[in-house]
Amino acid sequence: MPTYARLDLEVERGEGPYLYGTGGRRYLDFAAGIAVNALGHSHPHLVEALTRQAGKLWHCSNLYRIPEGERLAERLCALSSADRVFFCNSGAEAMECSIKLVRKYHDETGNPGRYKMIACEGSFHGRTLTALSAAGNEKHLKGFLPTMAGFTQVAFGNLNELRSAIDDETAAVLVEPIQGEGGIRQAEIDYLRGLRAACDEFGLLLVVDEVQCGVGRTGKFFAHEWAGIAPDVIATAKGLGGGFPMGACLATEKAAVGMTPGTHGSTFGGNPLAMAVANAVLDVVLEEGFLAQVQATGEVLQGRLKTLVAGHPELFAGLRGAGLMLGLECVVPNGEMFKRLYDEGLLTVPAGDNVVRLLPPLIIDESHVEEALGILERVSGNWAKAA
Ligand SMILES: *Cc1c(COP(=O)(O)O)cnc(C)c1O
Repeated sequence: MPTYARLDLEVERGEGPYLYGTGGRRYLDFAAGIAVNALGHSHPHLVEALTRQAGKLWHCSNLYRIPEGERLAERLCALSSADRVFFCNSGAEAMECSIKLVRKYHDETGNPGRYKMIACEGSFHGRTLTALSAAGNEKHLKGFLPTMAGFTQVAFGNLNELRSAIDDETAAVLVEPIQGEGGIRQAEIDYLRGLRAACDEFGLLLVVDEVQCGVGRTGKFFAHEWAGIAPDVIATAKGLGGGFPMGACLATEKAAVGMTPGTHGSTFGGNPLAMAVANAVLDVVLEEGFLAQVQATGEVLQGRLKTLVAGHPELFAGLRGAGLMLGLECVVPNGEMFKRLYDEGLLTVPAGDNVVRLLPPLIIDESHVEEALGILERVSGNWAKAA
Protein backbone atom coordinates (compact mmCIF):
# COMPACT_ATOMS: atom_id res chain seq x y z
CA MET A 1 0.00 0.00 0.00
CA PRO A 2 1.42 3.38 -0.90
CA THR A 3 1.18 4.72 2.66
CA TYR A 4 4.67 6.25 2.58
CA ALA A 5 6.02 9.16 0.55
CA ARG A 6 9.30 7.34 -0.05
CA LEU A 7 12.43 8.87 -1.49
CA ASP A 8 13.62 7.21 -4.67
CA LEU A 9 16.64 5.79 -2.82
CA GLU A 10 17.09 2.06 -3.10
CA VAL A 11 19.14 1.06 -0.06
CA GLU A 12 21.68 -1.70 0.01
CA ARG A 13 23.71 -1.66 3.20
CA GLY A 14 24.88 0.47 6.07
CA GLU A 15 28.09 0.93 7.97
CA GLY A 16 28.40 3.09 11.07
CA PRO A 17 26.77 6.46 10.32
CA TYR A 18 26.65 5.79 6.56
CA LEU A 19 23.90 4.33 4.42
CA TYR A 20 24.69 3.05 0.92
CA GLY A 21 22.33 2.97 -2.05
CA THR A 22 22.33 0.08 -4.53
CA GLY A 23 24.03 2.43 -6.99
CA GLY A 24 26.94 2.74 -4.55
CA ARG A 25 26.21 6.29 -3.43
CA ARG A 26 27.07 6.97 0.21
CA TYR A 27 24.85 9.04 2.52
CA LEU A 28 25.67 10.46 5.94
CA ASP A 29 22.73 9.12 7.90
CA PHE A 30 21.39 11.75 10.30
CA ALA A 31 17.97 10.10 10.12
CA ALA A 32 19.17 6.82 11.66
CA GLY A 33 15.94 5.06 10.71
CA ILE A 34 14.04 7.73 12.69
CA ALA A 35 16.16 7.51 15.86
CA VAL A 36 16.26 3.70 15.68
CA ASN A 37 19.82 2.92 14.59
CA ALA A 38 21.19 4.32 17.85
CA LEU A 39 24.56 2.63 17.27
CA GLY A 40 24.61 3.24 13.53
CA HIS A 41 24.50 0.46 10.97
CA SER A 42 26.09 -2.97 11.31
CA HIS A 43 27.61 -2.28 14.71
CA PRO A 44 29.95 -5.28 15.26
CA HIS A 45 28.70 -5.94 18.80
CA LEU A 46 25.06 -6.00 17.61
CA VAL A 47 25.85 -8.15 14.57
CA GLU A 48 27.65 -10.58 16.85
CA ALA A 49 24.77 -10.69 19.37
CA LEU A 50 22.16 -11.21 16.65
CA THR A 51 24.05 -13.89 14.74
CA ARG A 52 25.04 -15.75 17.91
CA GLN A 53 21.42 -15.78 19.08
CA ALA A 54 20.24 -16.78 15.60
CA GLY A 55 22.27 -19.97 15.90
CA LYS A 56 20.71 -20.81 19.26
CA LEU A 57 17.01 -19.90 19.32
CA TRP A 58 14.80 -17.46 17.40
CA HIS A 59 11.41 -17.76 18.95
CA CYS A 60 9.67 -19.77 21.61
CA SER A 61 6.69 -17.50 22.63
CA ASN A 62 6.00 -16.40 26.18
CA LEU A 63 5.06 -19.89 27.31
CA TYR A 64 8.60 -20.22 28.71
CA ARG A 65 11.19 -18.20 30.56
CA ILE A 66 13.59 -16.25 28.35
CA PRO A 67 16.79 -15.53 30.31
CA GLU A 68 17.96 -12.73 28.00
CA GLY A 69 14.59 -11.03 28.50
CA GLU A 70 14.77 -11.33 32.27
CA ARG A 71 18.24 -9.83 32.16
CA LEU A 72 17.10 -6.96 29.91
CA ALA A 73 14.11 -6.25 32.17
CA GLU A 74 16.37 -6.12 35.22
CA ARG A 75 18.74 -3.73 33.48
CA LEU A 76 15.90 -1.42 32.34
CA CYS A 77 14.47 -1.35 35.87
CA ALA A 78 17.91 -0.55 37.33
CA LEU A 79 18.06 2.40 34.91
CA SER A 80 14.65 3.84 35.77
CA SER A 81 11.88 4.22 38.33
CA ALA A 82 10.30 1.00 37.03
CA ASP A 83 10.03 -2.43 38.67
CA ARG A 84 8.10 -4.25 35.93
CA VAL A 85 8.57 -4.55 32.17
CA PHE A 86 6.32 -5.77 29.36
CA PHE A 87 8.08 -6.43 26.05
CA CYS A 88 6.37 -5.81 22.73
CA ASN A 89 7.36 -5.10 19.15
CA SER A 90 6.91 -1.39 18.51
CA GLY A 91 6.38 2.02 20.02
CA ALA A 92 2.64 1.96 19.38
CA GLU A 93 2.39 -1.33 21.26
CA ALA A 94 4.40 0.10 24.15
CA MET A 95 1.79 2.88 24.26
CA GLU A 96 -1.07 0.38 24.02
CA CYS A 97 0.29 -1.49 27.05
CA SER A 98 0.77 1.81 28.91
CA ILE A 99 -2.83 2.84 28.25
CA LYS A 100 -4.25 -0.54 29.22
CA LEU A 101 -2.12 -0.53 32.37
CA VAL A 102 -3.48 2.89 33.36
CA ARG A 103 -7.09 1.72 33.07
CA LYS A 104 -6.34 -1.51 34.88
CA TYR A 105 -4.57 0.29 37.72
CA HIS A 106 -7.60 2.41 38.56
CA ASP A 107 -9.97 -0.51 38.11
CA GLU A 108 -7.86 -2.59 40.47
CA THR A 109 -7.54 0.16 43.08
CA GLY A 110 -11.27 0.82 43.38
CA ASN A 111 -11.75 3.62 40.83
CA PRO A 112 -13.07 1.89 37.68
CA GLY A 113 -14.65 5.20 36.61
CA ARG A 114 -11.23 6.72 36.12
CA TYR A 115 -10.26 5.95 32.54
CA LYS A 116 -9.42 9.23 30.86
CA MET A 117 -5.94 10.29 29.86
CA ILE A 118 -4.82 13.84 29.28
CA ALA A 119 -2.27 14.09 26.49
CA CYS A 120 -0.63 17.03 24.73
CA GLU A 121 -1.32 18.82 21.50
CA GLY A 122 1.39 18.20 18.92
CA SER A 123 2.18 14.79 20.35
CA PHE A 124 2.67 11.51 18.51
CA HIS A 125 2.22 8.09 20.09
CA GLY A 126 1.99 5.73 17.12
CA ARG A 127 -0.47 4.69 14.43
CA THR A 128 -2.86 2.27 16.11
CA LEU A 129 -6.35 3.66 16.67
CA THR A 130 -5.76 3.99 20.40
CA ALA A 131 -2.41 5.74 19.97
CA LEU A 132 -3.98 8.06 17.38
CA SER A 133 -6.86 8.77 19.76
CA ALA A 134 -4.38 9.65 22.50
CA ALA A 135 -2.48 12.12 20.32
CA GLY A 136 -5.62 13.56 18.75
CA ASN A 137 -3.82 14.72 15.59
CA GLU A 138 -6.63 15.50 13.11
CA LYS A 139 -4.41 14.90 10.10
CA HIS A 140 -3.62 11.35 11.24
CA LEU A 141 -7.22 10.62 12.28
CA LYS A 142 -8.88 11.88 9.11
CA GLY A 143 -10.96 9.08 7.62
CA PHE A 144 -10.35 6.76 10.56
CA LEU A 145 -13.02 8.02 12.94
CA PRO A 146 -14.49 7.41 15.42
CA THR A 147 -11.69 7.71 17.95
CA MET A 148 -11.36 5.60 21.06
CA ALA A 149 -13.11 7.20 24.05
CA GLY A 150 -11.17 8.60 26.97
CA PHE A 151 -8.56 11.01 25.62
CA THR A 152 -8.24 14.77 25.71
CA GLN A 153 -5.39 16.99 24.64
CA VAL A 154 -4.18 20.20 26.22
CA ALA A 155 -1.56 22.71 25.07
CA PHE A 156 1.95 21.26 25.46
CA GLY A 157 3.81 23.12 28.18
CA ASN A 158 0.76 24.78 29.76
CA LEU A 159 0.42 23.45 33.31
CA ASN A 160 -2.64 25.55 34.17
CA GLU A 161 -4.56 24.23 31.21
CA LEU A 162 -3.58 20.69 32.13
CA ARG A 163 -4.59 21.11 35.76
CA SER A 164 -7.99 22.52 34.84
CA ALA A 165 -8.62 19.57 32.49
CA ILE A 166 -8.42 17.10 35.41
CA ASP A 167 -11.77 15.74 36.59
CA ASP A 168 -13.13 12.77 38.57
CA GLU A 169 -12.65 10.48 35.58
CA THR A 170 -9.03 11.40 34.87
CA ALA A 171 -6.69 8.46 35.16
CA ALA A 172 -3.33 9.65 33.87
CA VAL A 173 -1.24 12.27 32.14
CA LEU A 174 0.71 11.33 29.01
CA VAL A 175 3.66 13.34 27.72
CA GLU A 176 6.70 13.10 25.43
CA PRO A 177 9.60 14.80 27.25
CA ILE A 178 10.65 15.98 23.79
CA GLN A 179 8.01 15.81 21.08
CA GLY A 180 9.65 14.16 18.09
CA GLU A 181 7.17 14.04 15.21
CA GLY A 182 5.62 17.27 16.49
CA GLY A 183 8.83 19.14 15.67
CA ILE A 184 11.46 18.52 18.40
CA ARG A 185 9.48 20.48 20.96
CA GLN A 186 11.21 20.12 24.30
CA ALA A 187 9.26 20.22 27.56
CA GLU A 188 10.64 22.60 30.18
CA ILE A 189 12.06 20.89 33.24
CA ASP A 190 9.59 22.79 35.44
CA TYR A 191 6.70 21.62 33.27
CA LEU A 192 7.68 17.96 33.71
CA ARG A 193 8.07 18.49 37.46
CA GLY A 194 4.70 20.23 37.52
CA LEU A 195 3.11 17.25 35.78
CA ARG A 196 4.58 14.91 38.38
CA ALA A 197 3.24 17.13 41.17
CA ALA A 198 -0.23 17.35 39.60
CA CYS A 199 -0.35 13.56 39.19
CA ASP A 200 0.62 13.09 42.85
CA GLU A 201 -1.95 15.65 43.98
CA PHE A 202 -4.85 14.07 42.07
CA GLY A 203 -3.86 10.40 42.26
CA LEU A 204 -3.06 10.09 38.55
CA LEU A 205 -0.38 8.04 36.85
CA LEU A 206 2.32 9.88 34.92
CA VAL A 207 3.11 8.16 31.63
CA VAL A 208 6.11 9.35 29.61
CA ASP A 209 6.50 8.39 25.97
CA GLU A 210 10.26 7.99 25.52
CA VAL A 211 9.93 6.02 22.29
CA GLN A 212 11.94 8.60 20.35
CA CYS A 213 13.83 10.62 22.99
CA GLY A 214 14.94 7.66 25.13
CA VAL A 215 17.89 5.25 25.04
CA GLY A 216 20.62 7.86 25.25
CA ARG A 217 19.41 10.24 22.56
CA THR A 218 19.63 13.32 24.82
CA GLY A 219 22.80 12.22 26.63
CA LYS A 220 20.92 10.61 29.51
CA PHE A 221 19.43 7.15 29.18
CA PHE A 222 15.89 8.56 29.43
CA ALA A 223 15.12 12.20 28.59
CA HIS A 224 12.90 12.66 31.66
CA GLU A 225 16.01 12.14 33.83
CA TRP A 226 16.99 15.74 33.06
CA ALA A 227 13.97 16.79 35.15
CA GLY A 228 14.79 14.34 37.93
CA ILE A 229 11.25 12.97 37.92
CA ALA A 230 10.11 9.39 38.51
CA PRO A 231 7.34 8.47 36.04
CA ASP A 232 4.89 5.69 36.87
CA VAL A 233 5.03 4.35 33.32
CA ILE A 234 7.66 4.69 30.58
CA ALA A 235 7.09 3.63 26.98
CA THR A 236 10.26 2.91 25.02
CA ALA A 237 11.08 1.40 21.61
CA LYS A 238 12.96 2.81 18.58
CA GLY A 239 16.62 2.99 19.72
CA LEU A 240 16.19 0.17 22.25
CA GLY A 241 16.55 -2.53 19.61
CA GLY A 242 19.18 -0.64 17.62
CA GLY A 243 17.25 -1.60 14.47
CA PHE A 244 15.68 -4.85 15.64
CA PRO A 245 11.92 -4.21 16.02
CA MET A 246 10.97 -4.12 19.67
CA GLY A 247 9.37 -2.00 22.35
CA ALA A 248 8.81 -2.08 26.07
CA CYS A 249 6.41 -0.69 28.63
CA LEU A 250 8.13 -0.06 31.96
CA ALA A 251 6.11 0.57 35.12
CA THR A 252 6.44 0.78 38.85
CA GLU A 253 5.24 -2.14 40.94
CA LYS A 254 2.38 0.04 42.18
CA ALA A 255 1.22 1.12 38.71
CA ALA A 256 1.48 -2.41 37.31
CA VAL A 257 -0.58 -3.91 40.14
CA GLY A 258 -3.36 -5.08 37.81
CA MET A 259 -1.14 -6.59 35.13
CA THR A 260 -1.49 -10.16 36.31
CA PRO A 261 -1.31 -13.41 34.29
CA GLY A 262 -3.74 -13.35 31.39
CA THR A 263 -4.37 -9.60 31.36
CA HIS A 264 -2.09 -8.72 28.45
CA GLY A 265 0.14 -10.49 25.98
CA SER A 266 2.06 -10.60 22.74
CA THR A 267 3.15 -13.60 20.69
CA PHE A 268 6.39 -12.03 19.50
CA GLY A 269 7.03 -9.62 22.39
CA GLY A 270 10.27 -10.41 24.20
CA ASN A 271 11.45 -12.67 21.39
CA PRO A 272 14.98 -14.06 22.08
CA LEU A 273 16.49 -12.34 19.03
CA ALA A 274 15.13 -8.96 20.14
CA MET A 275 16.24 -9.52 23.71
CA ALA A 276 19.78 -10.48 22.69
CA VAL A 277 20.14 -7.41 20.47
CA ALA A 278 18.66 -4.99 23.04
CA ASN A 279 21.05 -6.32 25.69
CA ALA A 280 23.88 -5.70 23.25
CA VAL A 281 22.61 -2.13 22.68
CA LEU A 282 22.68 -1.58 26.44
CA ASP A 283 26.21 -3.03 26.67
CA VAL A 284 27.39 -0.17 24.48
CA VAL A 285 25.12 2.66 25.65
CA LEU A 286 25.91 1.94 29.31
CA GLU A 287 29.67 1.74 28.74
CA GLU A 288 31.57 4.20 30.89
CA GLY A 289 31.69 7.55 29.11
CA PHE A 290 29.26 6.72 26.26
CA LEU A 291 26.43 9.02 27.36
CA ALA A 292 28.92 11.78 28.29
CA GLN A 293 30.25 11.46 24.74
CA VAL A 294 26.70 11.83 23.34
CA GLN A 295 26.30 15.01 25.39
CA ALA A 296 29.67 16.37 24.28
CA THR A 297 29.11 15.59 20.59
CA GLY A 298 25.61 17.03 20.90
CA GLU A 299 27.04 20.28 22.21
CA VAL A 300 29.52 20.53 19.35
CA LEU A 301 26.76 19.83 16.80
CA GLN A 302 24.44 22.35 18.48
CA GLY A 303 27.15 25.00 18.50
CA ARG A 304 27.88 24.52 14.80
CA LEU A 305 24.17 24.51 13.92
CA LYS A 306 23.56 27.73 15.86
CA THR A 307 26.23 29.41 13.75
CA LEU A 308 24.62 28.03 10.59
CA VAL A 309 21.20 29.30 11.66
CA ALA A 310 22.57 32.75 12.58
CA GLY A 311 24.30 32.98 9.19
CA HIS A 312 21.15 32.09 7.24
CA PRO A 313 18.11 33.87 8.71
CA GLU A 314 16.49 33.62 5.26
CA LEU A 315 16.45 29.81 5.63
CA PHE A 316 16.35 29.04 9.36
CA ALA A 317 14.46 30.53 12.30
CA GLY A 318 16.13 28.59 15.10
CA LEU A 319 17.44 25.38 16.59
CA ARG A 320 15.57 23.08 18.98
CA GLY A 321 16.21 19.98 21.00
CA ALA A 322 18.83 18.37 23.21
CA GLY A 323 21.79 16.05 22.83
CA LEU A 324 21.57 14.38 19.43
CA MET A 325 17.83 14.99 19.02
CA LEU A 326 17.84 18.30 17.17
CA GLY A 327 15.49 20.26 14.97
CA LEU A 328 16.26 23.03 12.51
CA GLU A 329 13.28 25.39 12.40
CA CYS A 330 12.97 26.29 8.75
CA VAL A 331 11.75 29.51 7.17
CA VAL A 332 11.68 27.84 3.77
CA PRO A 333 9.53 24.69 3.41
CA ASN A 334 11.13 21.91 5.49
CA GLY A 335 10.36 19.32 2.81
CA GLU A 336 12.42 21.30 0.30
CA MET A 337 15.32 21.62 2.77
CA PHE A 338 15.14 17.88 3.50
CA LYS A 339 15.22 17.10 -0.25
CA ARG A 340 18.19 19.35 -1.00
CA LEU A 341 20.18 17.90 1.91
CA TYR A 342 19.40 14.43 0.58
CA ASP A 343 20.57 15.44 -2.90
CA GLU A 344 23.89 16.49 -1.33
CA GLY A 345 24.22 13.25 0.64
CA LEU A 346 22.84 14.09 4.11
CA LEU A 347 19.83 12.15 5.39
CA THR A 348 17.49 13.98 7.79
CA VAL A 349 13.80 13.64 8.75
CA PRO A 350 11.08 16.26 8.30
CA ALA A 351 8.86 16.91 11.35
CA GLY A 352 5.92 19.09 12.36
CA ASP A 353 6.24 22.86 12.84
CA ASN A 354 8.26 23.11 9.59
CA VAL A 355 11.25 21.48 11.25
CA VAL A 356 14.01 19.31 9.77
CA ARG A 357 15.12 16.74 12.34
CA LEU A 358 18.72 15.68 12.87
CA LEU A 359 18.79 12.31 14.63
CA PRO A 360 22.29 10.97 13.99
CA PRO A 361 23.41 7.65 15.40
CA LEU A 362 24.80 8.17 18.91
CA ILE A 363 28.22 6.87 17.81
CA ILE A 364 29.10 9.86 15.63
CA ASP A 365 32.21 11.91 16.39
CA GLU A 366 33.25 15.44 15.51
CA SER A 367 34.40 14.41 12.04
CA HIS A 368 30.81 13.46 11.20
CA VAL A 369 29.57 16.74 12.66
CA GLU A 370 31.97 18.57 10.33
CA GLU A 371 30.89 16.46 7.39
CA ALA A 372 27.21 17.20 8.07
CA LEU A 373 27.87 20.91 8.52
CA GLY A 374 29.82 20.97 5.27
CA ILE A 375 26.71 19.73 3.47
CA LEU A 376 24.38 22.06 5.40
CA GLU A 377 26.61 25.06 4.62
CA ARG A 378 26.85 24.11 0.94
CA VAL A 379 23.08 23.66 0.56
CA SER A 380 22.43 26.91 2.44
CA GLY A 381 25.00 28.84 0.42
CA ASN A 382 23.64 27.58 -2.91
CA TRP A 383 20.12 28.39 -1.81
CA ALA A 384 21.14 31.94 -0.95
CA LYS A 385 22.89 32.31 -4.34
CA ALA A 386 19.90 31.01 -6.30
CA ALA A 387 17.47 33.29 -4.46
C1 LIG B 1 7.75 6.52 16.66
C2 LIG B 1 6.99 6.87 17.89
C3 LIG B 1 5.94 6.06 18.35
C4 LIG B 1 5.44 4.88 17.58
O1 LIG B 1 6.40 3.91 17.40
P1 LIG B 1 6.16 2.74 16.30
O2 LIG B 1 7.29 1.81 16.55
O3 LIG B 1 6.20 3.40 14.96
O4 LIG B 1 4.84 2.15 16.59
C5 LIG B 1 5.36 6.40 19.55
N1 LIG B 1 5.75 7.47 20.25
C6 LIG B 1 6.74 8.27 19.83
C7 LIG B 1 7.16 9.43 20.66
C8 LIG B 1 7.39 8.02 18.63
O5 LIG B 1 8.34 8.83 18.19
